[in-house]
Amino acid sequence: MQQAWVISIGTELTLGQTVDTNGPWLAAQLAGLGIRTRRHVTVADDAEAIRDVLLQASAACDVILATGGLGPTDDDLTRQALADAAGVELELHAPSLEHLRAFFAAREREMPERNQVQALVPRTGRALPNPRGTAPGLRIELRGTPCYVMPGVPFEMRRMFECEIVPQLRLAAAGSVLLARRLHTFGLGESDLGERIRDLMERGRNPEVGTTAELGLIGIRVNASAPTREEAEARLDETEAELRRRLGEVVFGRDDETLAGVVGALLTASGSTLSTAESCTGGLLGKLLTDVAGSSQYYSGGVVTYANEAKINLLGVARADLERHGAVSDVVARAMAQGAARVFGTHYAISVTGIAGPTGGTPQKPVGLVFIGIRTPAQTTVHRRLFGGDQPREVIRVRAARTALNLLRRRLQM
Ligand code: AMP
Ligand code: MG
Repeated sequence: MQQAWVISIGTELTLGQTVDTNGPWLAAQLAGLGIRTRRHVTVADDAEAIRDVLLQASAACDVILATGGLGPTDDDLTRQALADAAGVELELHAPSLEHLRAFFAAREREMPERNQVQALVPRTGRALPNPRGTAPGLRIELRGTPCYVMPGVPFEMRRMFECEIVPQLRLAAAGSVLLARRLHTFGLGESDLGERIRDLMERGRNPEVGTTAELGLIGIRVNASAPTREEAEARLDETEAELRRRLGEVVFGRDDETLAGVVGALLTASGSTLSTAESCTGGLLGKLLTDVAGSSQYYSGGVVTYANEAKINLLGVARADLERHGAVSDVVARAMAQGAARVFGTHYAISVTGIAGPTGGTPQKPVGLVFIGIRTPAQTTVHRRLFGGDQPREVIRVRAARTALNLLRRRLQM
């Protein structure tokens, strides 16, 4: 399998003023071609630094993809750095100069003198046409390693990559495919989950298995390489089956599936409807549910009842219960879920009431304490969760909403 380095060039990138989108995009495209990106490097518009990175890359990988720094201004130094790395001079490339003149002529503009540098090509290199802009790309061999340099403007870069570079990479990478799949889990921490699948995560295994964590959602990445697509798919299927066997219902979906989408599919399958009653999540649950296209089929709606009066007036929560147990309580969560199901006339309802912080906590009811009510046609259950009170408000809210969706999912799957 071929190994690539992806190099993003620009001082705006190293300073954090622009987020590098070219690097990740290129790595994903390369994966589709069966080329594995081993390293991403971001480097400032500094000719020496660029040259050094190029030389380092040429000794370490099979193909180099670089973007940025091909513009006409003094801070665009990639062209010179490339020539330096190859140990050759820059030469004027007549067809590129012709393209530049035509580009400006087509826009009824005079070509500025300084754009002429964009027609310079290292003597042993080749220009790659750029139909979407002025800067041609470049291809050159650095110590025997092919190196492609594209403009930084994403729209120009993508077109050049697809039209000019992919065909060449395909030839070089023939005979290998790299396929990826993601499984999504909820309900186990990353280390517990890692413990259960430790042997599958061993380095050097094919497929390669790794995890990512984001506010309670643990993702599992599976990357398989094989000579053909069929074989890579078969390897993915095999590992997915093993992961599902080990993790059971902690796995809720794969690839583009979401918790809310899975809940929606389960509700649709059973012809059921859902409503929500939210306090500390302030509508986030409703937002997640309605992120799913077609959710009006099963999601009737929800209320955000933040103040006690709203819980009483809109959901019929008893004033005495609020006074005796407090708004963040088992009793009130139960009454909210039942109230929502009644008001909206739905089979299922979810309620969330908790303390998102950073203020409002007490020793008995600390920040992060959340009660989630799940009303089903058969019963109403309430689940108490304590999310770390040292976490930001937003984190507690997101975790609470996701936990609520997951609780309903588990109930629907019973
Ligand atoms: P350049 O080809 O270096 O002149 O880049 C032109 C413009 O493209 C820059 O001003 C950025 O706005 C954008 N750009 C360059 N590199 C990247 C990158 N790696 N990711 C996203 N945008 C970029
Ligand atoms: Mg630049």
